[in-house]
Amino acid sequence: MFFRFRSAGHALAAPGTGRASRWTRLRPALGFIAVALVALVGLDRLAVYGAERLALARVHGEGVFAADLRVAALRAEIEKQRTLPVVLAQDPDVHAALDHGDAASIQALDNKLRALATATRTGVIYLLDPHGLCISASNAGTPMSFVGSDYSFRPYFVRAMAEGAAEHFAFGTVSLHPGLYLTRRVDGPDGPLGVLVVKAEFDEMENDWRRLPLPAPTFVTDNHSIVLITSEPAWRFRALGPLAPAEKAALRNSLQFGEAPLDPLPLQPGPEGADTVRTTLPGARTAQTFVETEAAVPTTGWTLHVLSPTAPALALAATATRSLALLLGVVGFGTAGLVLTRRHQLKGEKARGAAARRELEERVATRTAELQDANEQLRAEMAERRRARIALEVLQDELAQASKLAVLGQIAASIAHEVNQPLAAIRVFADNAGTFLDQHQPDAARANLTTIAALTERIGTITQELRAFARKRARDVGPVEVEAAINGALLLMGYRLRQQDISLSVKVNPPELQVRADRARLEQVFVNLLQNAAEALTGQPHGNIHISAGRVGGDVRIVVADDGAGLPAEVMEALFLPFTTTKPNGLGLGLVICQDIIREFGGAITVENDHGARFTLTLPEAR
Ligand code: ADP
Repeated sequence: MFFRFRSAGHALAAPGTGRASRWTRLRPALGFIAVALVALVGLDRLAVYGAERLALARVHGEGVFAADLRVAALRAEIEKQRTLPVVLAQDPDVHAALDHGDAASIQALDNKLRALATATRTGVIYLLDPHGLCISASNAGTPMSFVGSDYSFRPYFVRAMAEGAAEHFAFGTVSLHPGLYLTRRVDGPDGPLGVLVVKAEFDEMENDWRRLPLPAPTFVTDNHSIVLITSEPAWRFRALGPLAPAEKAALRNSLQFGEAPLDPLPLQPGPEGADTVRTTLPGARTAQTFVETEAAVPTTGWTLHVLSPTAPALALAATATRSLALLLGVVGFGTAGLVLTRRHQLKGEKARGAAARRELEERVATRTAELQDANEQLRAEMAERRRARIALEVLQDELAQASKLAVLGQIAASIAHEVNQPLAAIRVFADNAGTFLDQHQPDAARANLTTIAALTERIGTITQELRAFARKRARDVGPVEVEAAINGALLLMGYRLRQQDISLSVKVNPPELQVRADRARLEQVFVNLLQNAAEALTGQPHGNIHISAGRVGGDVRIVVADDGAGLPAEVMEALFLPFTTTKPNGLGLGLVICQDIIREFGGAITVENDHGARFTLTLPEAR
């Protein structure tokens, strides 16, 4: 209640603090989300970058593989074409045509060359005479026929005539079609007869390159970096890079590439590193990035280039990686979030637990302090009670003593009589002893002296008893013979009873019966009871007092009964209360002290009227 009141007051005093504390609570969570987002984006970028690198490497590998395959195919095609001029240079028909030049042999050779060109899928096969004039050709009789054309300016003719063989890629001046010219000098016994030319064309190969399911622009460049064979016809005879003006002029003059301007290819360096290039393919609207792979074409001095597009692989890699990164990120950060939330919760629970523990400890401390206080109080009360009890005991002792002294006062006279009697007897016996001595009767005198000794012993016993009764003794409980205690009391009370002519009977059965008590105190009880009985019998002729003791159950029961008037009803009601008395000089303490003493021995005292007063003491037996 106190706390709720305080927090309400708090809210009233500062309305902004609720929002502030919510902000304080939210801040770590928002911070975590911000960090997670940044990390997620970073992770995504990193993963995509890695995946792109991998994809590019894969594309590059595939490019290398494709380039190798294409080089092998290209080389096989060139090798196949190369055998033709070698074989044909030995051919008798070729020799015949060169030797005779008659129409029939020319015709026959034309047919042979045509059949051969068709069978080997060669562009054109033709024969030049020693002056470079075409005398027979596989395309003879067609509109494109080479027959009659002069090829003396062609480097492949000049070099073949000079060196025996030549290879030259060029743009055909008649066919207007590029091809690789493979030439072989035909020698006769008297020297060169002419030159055989095989023009290999690569249209089909270019078509194959174009037709592949995933088109990768492919082209072959020569030692000047001029594109010779290409899947992109528009790129033919363009240079890989800008040519030096002199080189360009020389090439143009040679007409090797016809009128081609020999401009550089439209290739830009790609954004993904040295191996990549960027270009807009002829007929395409947007630029694309490619991984460029090169492979040398053996025996030619050419280089084959494959441009493998990167976009599909990159898109696939990016999508796959992004999904994976997102998944990992979500799972990772989700887990981290869960862990953090759980940690936060645990922290909260721990704090709450600690607060609860503190509260409990405080409560325990408060309760302990209260208990200690209560303990202290209890101890103080106990000490107080002990003091009170001791004071009471002292008081009781003093009361008992007072009561005893009062009794002593009353029995003093009877004691004097008790002592006077033997004293008088001693006197008589002493006088008689003297007389006996005068009469020389020593035996009689001795007998008197013996009697005197016995009488003094009796006086001694009485005075001793009196002293014992009067003495304030320490409480000392032990076995006490019932009969001895009764006799002790009678020593003090005997005279009085005899004086009042009260007859007394004492029956203790068995005579050696013992109780657990203190002899002097028990005697005090008997003296009190006998005193009261004697007083009750005052004025009554032939009074009787009966004392009997015996075992009842495990206890000893002692009855002191008289045949007086008994106890008045009003006394009966308040008998064991102090100061209850019917006597003019009574203290009303005797019975109270008797009850105290008997209780102290673990016993009880009761009273009833039965032909007089009848007091019953019950005490534990001492065995
Ligand atoms: P006190 O003798 O000083 O009066 P007690 O306590 O000894 O005090 O006795 C209380 C009263 O009980 C006596 O005054 C008397 O009236 C009554 N009482 C005691 N013993 C007897 C008895 N044996 N017979 C009749 N009355 C008795």
